[in-house]
Amino acid sequence: MSAPLPATTMNRVEPISVEEALAIVLDAVGTTEVVEVPLHDSTGLTLAADIIAPGSLPTFRNSAMDGFAVRSLETVDASTVRPVVLRIAGTIMAGDAPWNGPLDAGSAVRVMTGAAIPGVCDAVIRLEDVEIDRDDIRLARSITAGEHIREIGSDVRAGTTALEAGAELSWASIALLTSLEISSIRVHRRLHVAVISTGDEIQSNAASGLSIPDSNGPMLMTMLRDCGVDAEFLGVARDRQETLESIIHRAPHADAIVTSGGVSAGDRDVVRDLLATRNARLFSQVRMKPGRPFTFGLLGRVPIFALPGNPFAAAATFLQFVQPALDRMRGRRINEASRSVAQVADRIENPSPRRLIVPVRIDAGNGRFPVAHRIAESVAGLALLARADGLLVIPESVRSVNAGDTCEFWSIH
Ligand code: AMP
Ligand code: MG
Repeated sequence: MSAPLPATTMNRVEPISVEEALAIVLDAVGTTEVVEVPLHDSTGLTLAADIIAPGSLPTFRNSAMDGFAVRSLETVDASTVRPVVLRIAGTIMAGDAPWNGPLDAGSAVRVMTGAAIPGVCDAVIRLEDVEIDRDDIRLARSITAGEHIREIGSDVRAGTTALEAGAELSWASIALLTSLEISSIRVHRRLHVAVISTGDEIQSNAASGLSIPDSNGPMLMTMLRDCGVDAEFLGVARDRQETLESIIHRAPHADAIVTSGGVSAGDRDVVRDLLATRNARLFSQVRMKPGRPFTFGLLGRVPIFALPGNPFAAAATFLQFVQPALDRMRGRRINEASRSVAQVADRIENPSPRRLIVPVRIDAGNGRFPVAHRIAESVAGLALLARADGLLVIPESVRSVNAGDTCEFWSIH
């Protein structure tokens, strides 16, 4: 007869691969509904439909330089030995009405950057390229038609796609849409995500003097806000299921919940226990270091990302799972922009089959890729992350990378 298994063995689960875990997460989360918002409230949101330019940019031909608008044909013979002399017929400032009058042969019009170009002119010569002699200018070289002129539609042509659905509204897209005189747009509603820290040892809970500040709470709030998310901190839960439940109830409208701590296999792993009793867990434990205890579930329809308490593990699993899930939820293409490639400066071992995340500093190197230097092993904990430029990602299938090998790299700034 066999003895009953100890509780910890009964609870043991086999960690799954990062790829499998990410697929489960992305499959479980939904995209928020589409709403119309004023452009000035749209930063960080995702466009829900293509923007077709209602007009062209620029809307009128204008000068790209301070200089003189000319007819290029009149400059073809210009050279240093035989400069062409043109008479200054007048000045047009940016914002002035267009030059409607005729322009005598052998004349030029002084124009400021952004000024409308007289219809008969087809090029602008820069101020610094002429010699001014009272009412005349002297040109020592010829100008080609179109030089320094911004043609109508050269930036955006009316009727073409100015921005595609799925684009994030950044400062650059806000500027573009403002130029197109678009003042409200259809976007995916802003996500509202609740953050909970857990642990009896976290300062606001601890009875003893041996407490630690809640660094995960502010870290995760900042990471969420950097993702354009409306983040709400719900508090620090004691390691009791009732306190965690009551804190979760404070955010009935959250689109997602991000917790940290309480998901390993200790006696008081409150998040793990809550998800187990509510039968909400879709998986727990991934083959990733740090971050193995990462657990994901659905409380009703609300995704809950249960990050490990160790701050580096919490950050790494946030970047690995929460960030792509948020992108999916807000209708955005999964953001690959911060994920690139770096060359490894020194050999890195990955002794067991799991994704290894290594904080590194980066220098420009002199090859095709930036070079990643592992931070001295003597630096640990939060100092490690704060000093890092980014994280190297060694895949589960790779036992070691050698100096000069390339590797996936996530910038963390
Ligand atoms: P846990 O996952 O709850 O076992 O926590 C693992 C480690 O992370 C412990 O040393 C905790 O003290 C630490 N930790 C947990 N939560 C936080 C937090 N909110 N801020 C800083 N450190 C934490
Ligand atoms: Mg804990």
